[in-house]
Amino acid sequence: MPSSPLRPSGGRGLGEVGGRRETQPVPSTTSPFPSLTRRAPSLSPASGGEGVVTALCTLLSLFFFLATPAVAQTKYDTPWGKVATPSRGTAQAIGGYANGCIAGAVALDAEGPGFQVLRRWRNRYWGHPQLIDYLDRLGAAFVARKLKPMLIGDMGQPRGGPMAYGHASHQIGIDVDILFTPGPMAASAREALSDPPSMLTANKQDVDPKRFGATQIAMLKTAAADPLVARIFVNYRIKKYLCLTLPPAEHGWIGRLRPWLGHDEHFHVRLKCPPGSPLCKDQEPIPVGDGCDDSLEEWFRPPPPRDPNAPPPPPPKPKILPPACAAVLTAP
Ligand SMILES: [Zn+2]
Repeated sequence: MPSSPLRPSGGRGLGEVGGRRETQPVPSTTSPFPSLTRRAPSLSPASGGEGVVTALCTLLSLFFFLATPAVAQTKYDTPWGKVATPSRGTAQAIGGYANGCIAGAVALDAEGPGFQVLRRWRNRYWGHPQLIDYLDRLGAAFVARKLKPMLIGDMGQPRGGPMAYGHASHQIGIDVDILFTPGPMAASAREALSDPPSMLTANKQDVDPKRFGATQIAMLKTAAADPLVARIFVNYRIKKYLCLTLPPAEHGWIGRLRPWLGHDEHFHVRLKCPPGSPLCKDQEPIPVGDGCDDSLEEWFRPPPPRDPNAPPPPPPKPKILPPACAAVLTAP
């Protein structure tokens, strides 16, 4: 999100971590795997709850009500979700992760070595060829390391752009969600999946070591190893768990894991802007180091109490897509 109204000033929240803006992450209050079915397209606002302070949740609810009405039990009306096919021509990511589109997107196969795709009916298995290549390589790496196949959730729409439900980002074809729970899964179950298991305990206060273990760590490490990866979003409690349990020799790669809300049943891989996409806007690079520092602790602190006399925050400004996206939407 280019400018997040979510973070209470001085406290933990979205949009900024440790004083550095994590612009345009994806606080789908949680889940790119919301409890959404084809028949009943209503979102579970937080399929996992966060164990986060009520004030922040309230702010989140307000934001998503304003910015992504999907969370208010209705589908956000956007033409981008109604275009069934990509535009022709050379692939190009245009704009920012949470405000852009993609020309010339390519489909990921329903399954291949080391991977299976969830919920193809959503038609969100499109991406820049660089994302498809990444997932092919990652699947091959899973096979080579004898990991079970990964279950891939939402990527992007055929021409990217804002989605009717579920995500603020995933708009330019270089974001992908991957379930922490590995496959294989039967095709019918992959289509019907509605509530993947969280890696946290029932009260959401801790990582559940019975669910999150060596397999999940190997998945994250393998996914983070590719030099094309800009960052990977995981729940902040998962990040903390890794900081505390991994030996120092393993701390080199966990700097790429960025703490966030939700993301306790999947992780979100974001690639760097691909070559040949001059209009693609990268986020700032992640900070140097493993991220196991005060910027992480900030997520666990309650926000300061809100001044009851303070004026309400202004509503977020509507986003305006890059002008080049108008042509992408209507292109053959
Ligand atoms: Zn995501």
